[in-house]
Amino acid sequence: ASWFGHVEPAAKDPILGVTEAFLADPSPDKVNGAYRDDNGRPVVLECVREAERRIAGNANMEYLPMGGSMKMIEESLKLAYGEDSEFLKDKRIAAVQALSGTGACRLFADFQKRFLPDSQIYIPTPTWSKFPSSFLHLSVIANPMFFLSHHNIWRDARVPQRTFTYYHPESRGLDFAGLMNDIQNAQDGSFFLLHACAHNPTGVDPSEEQWRERSFQFKAKKHFPFFDMAYQGFASGDPERDAKAIRIFLEDGHQIGCAQSYAKNMGLYGQRAGCLSILCDDEMQAVAVKSQLQQIARPMYSNPPLHGALIVSTILSDPELKNLWLKEVKGMADRIIGMRKALKENLESLGSSLSWEHITNQIGMFCHSGMTPEQVDRLTNEFHIYMTRNGRISMAGVTSGNVAYLANAIHEVTK
Ligand code: PLP
Repeated sequence: ASWFGHVEPAAKDPILGVTEAFLADPSPDKVNGAYRDDNGRPVVLECVREAERRIAGNANMEYLPMGGSMKMIEESLKLAYGEDSEFLKDKRIAAVQALSGTGACRLFADFQKRFLPDSQIYIPTPTWSKFPSSFLHLSVIANPMFFLSHHNIWRDARVPQRTFTYYHPESRGLDFAGLMNDIQNAQDGSFFLLHACAHNPTGVDPSEEQWRERSFQFKAKKHFPFFDMAYQGFASGDPERDAKAIRIFLEDGHQIGCAQSYAKNMGLYGQRAGCLSILCDDEMQAVAVKSQLQQIARPMYSNPPLHGALIVSTILSDPELKNLWLKEVKGMADRIIGMRKALKENLESLGSSLSWEHITNQIGMFCHSGMTPEQVDRLTNEFHIYMTRNGRISMAGVTSGNVAYLANAIHEVTK
């Protein structure tokens, strides 16, 4: 008898056909949902190249401390909580370097399960279920990474889940009333997963005023906000602006948790550079919480990887490199915002009678186009454009070279 004969292949994601089409596609232009430049090429930021030049030959290959690079953590906290944050000065934040955003979420989920075993997590509908969905003429997406989701992370940590209303399909915007209702109706003291900015997959974010109302209601209900911030700077082009939701909750006196990722905003996808932080009552509690986070990480991966942390800390601790990064992250965000405008304008000048306002109202990498699965099928079959059947477009894959083609195809299948 075989030891592993009973092991069946893991369930296929419904989108796998798209992945297979991608893998079979010989086009050199195919993309996998990561950011591309206007020629469809992968991007390594100049600030990253310069950091690597400075690191080269100077770093040793020792282990990082269990909690990761102190310098990288400190810079990450400044970015999320604010350069002059009193919480940083008071050492009230327990933080560890994490395996990018996914690792930060998972570590938090495990921590939640260990220390609040009866708690649940509320996850927005829909949420990040990261299947590949860039579209490109003759090309698409396939990256096993993109099959992860918040649901799976908290499921594997054995934390029970609930969902809360988020997206309003008719307006292709936020269902604010539904969302507030669900916050109100949740049991007092519940955990909520909040996308700090550039909600994935919808691209729909609450306004500042709506965040304030949300924060107020969280306070009344004593809920715990856990922010997943995978796109700081990548959404608006300004990391301070993208941290606004977190800052509002901090001003209102919430304790928060926060997952940070440098995958998108520094283009460090494969380096797995991120940070998990939890704001505590005081320094003593922060020390205790950090030691427990390390304790959870220890038997899983011992300590986090060195190279990405060196890149991040080199960039963020050097004013000149940090400025270059700020310029480059704005460049990426602006390119995507520009493509949104171009897509909308192209559709309008083709005479589309539908409203495409939501393309420019939404923010971040993704656009919830509102196309039906049947329309998406036609895009694929007739125009070689691949995207997920829920109509989600990855704007990062749209370029000056393909936006007109794309607009024309969308117009053809939606008129
Ligand atoms: N959270 C959200 C909302 C995301 O969209 C992503 C990536 O797309 C992640 C977390 C994690 O990505 P990574 O683990 O590469 O940092």
